[in-house]
Amino acid sequence: MTSGSALGVAVLGATGSIGASTLDLVARHPDRYRVVALTAHRSIDTLIALCRRHRPSVAVLSGFAENAEVRTRFADSGFRGQLRFGAAALEDAARHEDAALVMAAIVGAAGLSSTLAAATAGKRVLLANKEALVIAGPLLMQAVRSAQAVLLPIDSEHNAVFQCLPTGRAGRASLRGVRRVLLTASGGPFRTLPLERLAHVTPDEACAHPNWVMGRKISVDSATMMNKGLEVIEARWLFDISPECIEVVIHPQSVVHSMVEYIDGSVIAQLSNPDMRVPIAHALAYPERIDSGVDPLDLGALGQLSFEPPDTKRFPCLRLAYQALHAGGTTPTYLNAANELSVEAFLAGRLRFTSIPEVIADVLDRLPARHAASLDDLLAADALARRAAATAIERMQARAA
Ligand code: NAD
Ligand code: MG
Repeated sequence: MTSGSALGVAVLGATGSIGASTLDLVARHPDRYRVVALTAHRSIDTLIALCRRHRPSVAVLSGFAENAEVRTRFADSGFRGQLRFGAAALEDAARHEDAALVMAAIVGAAGLSSTLAAATAGKRVLLANKEALVIAGPLLMQAVRSAQAVLLPIDSEHNAVFQCLPTGRAGRASLRGVRRVLLTASGGPFRTLPLERLAHVTPDEACAHPNWVMGRKISVDSATMMNKGLEVIEARWLFDISPECIEVVIHPQSVVHSMVEYIDGSVIAQLSNPDMRVPIAHALAYPERIDSGVDPLDLGALGQLSFEPPDTKRFPCLRLAYQALHAGGTTPTYLNAANELSVEAFLAGRLRFTSIPEVIADVLDRLPARHAASLDDLLAADALARRAAATAIERMQARAA
């Protein structure tokens, strides 16, 4: 039964992989949570099905303008809430007055303005949309501080780090006594593939992650290890930690989700089965704990956990991300935009897997770092890098033809 005191949740990107895990948890705990708003870009049928199940007061299709036919389909399905269209409706959902918790689970730069809107409205923001921090780290963290919002990491590594850090003020960890943060990376599906075969891998092979089932964009990012690069930048802003203190270690089993090393040599790790419902449950209930529905870890059955340093020859994207972080200003925005465009081209069969880092390197070489004082500056940098990446992709296609 839904009780009157259940916390309202808005799920931005409800039709995605993180959206599904979040809604699974909300449905397991109807006494604690109720769905207030659900958003999707263009997945009409999936959103209708989610609305039937979770009965939000608002449903948003941000990728469409007002559409009478779609409105009829929602009404025919029995949906009695408010249906809204377009980008402004998405931002309104992010600051909905009945939403105490906002799950930011849109993929890519498309999630930035709604994540920022939730932070500016002082919400408790559950951040899966790592690209928002990559593009606009200082700006987003400033918005969180000014509005006294709470930002809780959903990315499993950052959620692990958060759990291993000393407790700070409400929802904010402290760095007292911390020497390093060790982000673990699975190495993706191509960790041991002979290097000469990398140029010929297909989108489906790249999306077949050994441990996690995720959306296609983040799956390709995991295969190139740009995902870990984005996560290094995410950690830099989320924990206000210098890049030199963030290290990446390969751990193929994805059971140790990350670690924090202290100056006395102690290393604290967080472990669980690889299922995103663990970090989502942690952030939903923080500082309490709730059942996530995930099987307990059976270390005896697992037998071995292994670690190795990352191979930067195989994974140039990791180096490019550190390079962008050091260049600062608008360069991480360029990195993210060039990555989004080249991953899209790879998924569409227009670019080779090994050309993804080539496009990004080309864009970083061409565009000088600029100071970014506002969201408009960042959006302009994003657009500039997308144009440069499109040109680089065309050049590579011409070369391959
Ligand atoms: P997904 O592709 O499965 O879902 C993306 C969601 O975003 C969908 O609901 C889609 O409708 C919405 N969307 C897509 N484009 C949009 C646009 N232009 N405007 C508005 N909405 C749009 O992605 P996912 O795997 O759930 O990942 C979501 C975010 O969480 C990403 O930033 C990803 O890096 C991060 N993340 C995911 C996982 C995971 O296990 N899936 C783990 C860690 C972090
Ligand atoms: Mg992660």
